[in-house]
Amino acid sequence: MMDPLEKLACLAENMRVEPAEESLLPRPEEKLLPGRPPQAAACPAGISLENLPIYRAVAPGGRRVPLLKTLLTSACERDCYYCACRAGRDFRRVAFQPEELARTFMALHRSRRVDGLFLSSGLAGGGIRAQDRLIAAAEILREKMGFAGYLHLKLMPGAERAQVERAMQLADRVSINLEAPNTARLGSLAPHKTFLEELVRPLEWVEAIRQNEPEGAGWKGRWPSSTTQFVVGAAGETDLELLGVTQVLYRRLHLARVYYSGFSPVEGTPLENLPAVDPWRQSRLYQASFLLRDYGFDLEDLPFDPGGSLPLDADPKLAWARQNLAGSPVEINRAERRELLKLPGIGPKGAEAILNARARGRITGVEALRAIGVSVRRAAPFVLIDGRRPAAQGDFFADIGLRGG
Ligand code: SF4
Repeated sequence: MMDPLEKLACLAENMRVEPAEESLLPRPEEKLLPGRPPQAAACPAGISLENLPIYRAVAPGGRRVPLLKTLLTSACERDCYYCACRAGRDFRRVAFQPEELARTFMALHRSRRVDGLFLSSGLAGGGIRAQDRLIAAAEILREKMGFAGYLHLKLMPGAERAQVERAMQLADRVSINLEAPNTARLGSLAPHKTFLEELVRPLEWVEAIRQNEPEGAGWKGRWPSSTTQFVVGAAGETDLELLGVTQVLYRRLHLARVYYSGFSPVEGTPLENLPAVDPWRQSRLYQASFLLRDYGFDLEDLPFDPGGSLPLDADPKLAWARQNLAGSPVEINRAERRELLKLPGIGPKGAEAILNARARGRITGVEALRAIGVSVRRAAPFVLIDGRRPAAQGDFFADIGLRGG
């Protein structure tokens, strides 16, 4: 019989492509992800902390958490074309009983190896059964073993509304992966998943429960946040399609985060010969997604080309500014918050700091901007300070490193 730590090590390979929390900090070797297909027999020969699926994550609220990311089982009856766990693929499957998983996690937690758990599962016996087992593990952790730390629980395709609500009473965060931006694209990735019924509806239930049910019923008196993930670059989807859905998810269903997982071919799957996506595409999607979520941008502001792609060679905020502000710079002393947020080099904190500084007096030079955390180098081409281009002010050149000495 397999040791529980051996099981975790076996499952680690299946979890590499599942982004979990805010600002997940990858292990250095994860930077090699694109193009490194998981092997058919992925279980490592020996067990060490190094090959357990423990990640350094930043939980909602900014707390740093060593997070165990695992599956209850890698057995799955579905046949998603991109997935290492798809039915019929030849590799060693591993399954935990809910109690066994909870005990294993708590042993790692008590030895201070992990503080949080991200728990997902293959679909064995249908979505309802798989969800029941995830909930059972969470109930054991919370109610029997007294675990009060961070828990991210996956929602299964096909789960029922009551199960979604129960998961929300136990978890700090819940999520379900949409994988694709619409029904047609999903058909080329996961032929037996239904986009609206199985994937979008649980996210709608999460939002309906947050809006309509008393918050006191949630874990620690709060309903959990929700997230989703798309596979990028395997279904011919455009950036415009992905970000169009992203905008709806942020505005209507109030997701905390949308993840973009660049496609990487997996040996022994129908897509094994499809090239990995350019990592820059994933990176530009994240940048654009933050513009939609935090910077007041609308989908139509984003600099798509006629084919619906973002430029890979410039960040989307800079590309927007070059198109829209190069000939009409923004006066730092008069701009509203929403105008400041659209300037390269100025984020929500920077915009707030500029407004606070203006309440005390006029901003008269780049030093004042730099002192409150603005990236003057990025903002300078698009702003006026007291009616003048920063380039006309001496220290701009120092800021961009053009002055010697
Ligand atoms: S349902 Fe999930 S685990 Fe199963 S093949 Fe699809 S993506 Fe993989």
